[in-house]
Parts: sequence; structure tokens; C-alpha cells
Amino acid sequence: MTDDRAALVLFSGGQDSTTCLAWALDRYERVETVGFAYGQRHAIELAQRSRIRDGLCELNPVWKARLGDDHTIELEALGALSDTALTRNVAIGMEASGLPNTFVPGRNIVFLTFAAALAYRRGLRRIVGGMCETDFSGYPDCRDDTIKALQVALNLGMDRRFTLETPLMWLDKADTWRLAQELGGDAMVELIVEESHTCYLGERGERHDWGYGCGTCPACALRAQGFRRFAAERTATR
Ligand code: ZN
Repeated sequence: MTDDRAALVLFSGGQDSTTCLAWALDRYERVETVGFAYGQRHAIELAQRSRIRDGLCELNPVWKARLGDDHTIELEALGALSDTALTRNVAIGMEASGLPNTFVPGRNIVFLTFAAALAYRRGLRRIVGGMCETDFSGYPDCRDDTIKALQVALNLGMDRRFTLETPLMWLDKADTWRLAQELGGDAMVELIVEESHTCYLGERGERHDWGYGCGTCPACALRAQGFRRFAAERTATR
């Protein structure tokens, strides 16, 4: 059956999933990671994953002892099906529906379903993802209700008692930086700045105070804005 103290973290190599991984390592005894290759333009984030895992092990010997296997699942079909700015070389913008054209329909539903199938096989009860409803881009599959409904469907369909955990659901981007600081101090913040990847365009050329990226795509803009608010408060309280 599944181990209550064991977790599978959806780990893309971005800021949010890196923070979620540290969060899981802080509270569960065995933590495995899974990444998805779906033809994303920012596939560079997948390359950062092992560097971040190594960095977290260096930060904390307890985390090192808890961190288990890393898995990668090929989901090229998802990229082939979705006509979006994340998987095709088109400009990022807004659609008539009010959603950004970076929306990959059903992406998180597919990811969580595959993650649950993997967790089933690996005996892991807790599935951790960085979905967030607070300052997200309006993606309907990031909503708390979507995740809760999916948890019910997965548990019925697989006859298990998984819990889908989303520690960032009600945090904004500044809060997420703050959580990283709480979990691993300045070194954790530095690891995220240096190694995690957020930029939708896959740019890692220029180093900003918040990390690498084009600086203008919606993902970079959110990350930068959150970091500035976090950094201003950090300075004020020291
Ligand atoms: Zn960018």
C-alpha cells in the first residue's frame, strides 16, 4: 500500500516546484521527484533539475537522506496536441477567451494523473504540486477546486487514499520567496535564484537579482515582481 510519510513532488526545476520540494523534504521521510517532458520551449528547466536536487542535498544533510529517486515521464503527445505559446514558436499574448496563449489545456490534470499512477507503483501517498490560485495567470487547472475534484477522481479510480498537496495555493510570489527563506535561509533563496528556471522562453542569458530569464515574459515578470517585494521586506527587517 502507500506510505503516509512518503511523497512524490512534481518537480519541473522552476521556482515554485523547487520551493515545494524543499517543503516536502522538510516534513516527509522519503521524497521522490517527477518531471515531464512535453515539448516545452523552456525545456532548459528540465536540465536544471539535477543541479537543484544536488544543491538541496548540500544545503541540508537531513534533506539529503530523505531525497530519493528522480523520474522523468515523456509526454510528447501533450505538446503535439496543444497549440500554445509554450510548445510553439509564437509570441506570448492574450487570447479572446481571456486566458494567455501559454495555457496548455488540461496540463496539470494530465501531470497529476500520471504522477498518481507513478505514486501508486512507488507506494507514495502524498503528491505535492506547486499549483497556485493567488497570482496565477488564470489557468483553470491551477484552481483549488480542480485539484480537489481530481483528488476525489484519482482516489476513486485507483482505490487509494492519495492526498494532493499544494503548499503554494494561497501564496503570492513574494510569499513563495519568503517560504523558501523560512525553509532553508539565504542559501535556499540563493539556490533558487541561481539554478531554478521560470522563463517561458527558456532564456538563461542575463542574470538579474531574481535569477535568469528574458525579464519580460509573464513568468519572468511575476517572478521578478515577487522577488522585489520579498527583498524590500527582507532588507527592512534586518
Ligand atoms: Zn522570460
